[in-house]
Amino acid sequence: MILAVFQRELGKDSGERALARACAERLKLKVLLLPSICHLPDLHPVWKRLSGVETDLAVVPGIHPRPASWLLRARGVNLPPERIMFFDPGQDMEKRLSALQSMVGNKAEKKGVVEELFLGESMKERWYPVLDGGRCSRCGSCVEFCLFEVYARAEDGSVAVKQPDACKPGCPACSRICPEGAIMFPLYDKDPAIAGVEGHVMRPVVREQKADSKKSPPPQGRDEIDALIEELDKRTEKF
Ligand code: SF4
Ligand code: SF4
Repeated sequence: MILAVFQRELGKDSGERALARACAERLKLKVLLLPSICHLPDLHPVWKRLSGVETDLAVVPGIHPRPASWLLRARGVNLPPERIMFFDPGQDMEKRLSALQSMVGNKAEKKGVVEELFLGESMKERWYPVLDGGRCSRCGSCVEFCLFEVYARAEDGSVAVKQPDACKPGCPACSRICPEGAIMFPLYDKDPAIAGVEGHVMRPVVREQKADSKKSPPPQGRDEIDALIEELDKRTEKF
């Protein structure tokens, strides 16, 4: 069984190497130790390698399984959220190993091994949205809303994150206007719904605003989408 262990931070070991070794030695897994999932470039050879070896499990520190699963899928690696373990360096190693053991079942290798891939490469930090393809209704609101053409519609009508690096660092504005709660920013730590934490889905501002507007005028007569665009403009002035 092949386990992919991603690092939490670029160029820094936050306990992932120890976890990888323990998984190889004690759970008898073939472990691929990889750089941070969010910061890896879209066309990095690691994605081909991962899809080619049919990865069975992944440990993704700091990124929750739903966004991690959709991010992997966008890179050609199909791994459902239930095969992905969220992991924080402060969490108990024995508990994590025990949980992983139950996910492995009887599929252990005869001998475990750790292979480190691309850890020494210099990469830049990235910030971009991840779409939940199971929720996206292809409405196109995000395509219209984003001023930086991060999103694009394909010929088949689907919407995808086409220019992730055009997204403005720290800005999660479009996650608030998606009517389906399909837009996640995995690195956003101020709102679990935006980060894609299980059991939390972003409540769409626009839909609620429109529904409420039938009963009473919006606060101070302003449409919240205008406020969001203003906020986005202010943020981008800083870059
Ligand atoms: S706004 Fe949401 S539902 Fe509409 S296309 Fe974008 S991601 Fe999909
Ligand atoms: S956060 Fe802002 S810049 Fe980034 S994709 Fe959404 S609207 Fe575009």
